[in-house]
Amino acid sequence: MSLEIDKAVCDQCGTCISVCPLDALELTTELRVDVAKCIVCRNCVKVCPVGALRT
Ligand code: SF4
Ligand code: SF4
Repeated sequence: MSLEIDKAVCDQCGTCISVCPLDALELTTELRVDVAKCIVCRNCVKVCPVGALRT
């Protein structure tokens, strides 16, 4: 299981970044996840207002 980002849906609000305990999310030109850091806790999935994240 891994975190998937629907880039067509993400509006780059940055909300998910602030709830990641491992600092695995990065927003540059688009949102990216560092899969080596992500423990799939789903904190980010729960807070995304537009449902752009899934596992
Ligand atoms: S699932 Fe958890 S560890 Fe992975 S990016 Fe989201 S908040 Fe961070
Ligand atoms: S909370 Fe959702 S819409 Fe906002 S940056 Fe994260 S994935 Fe994108």
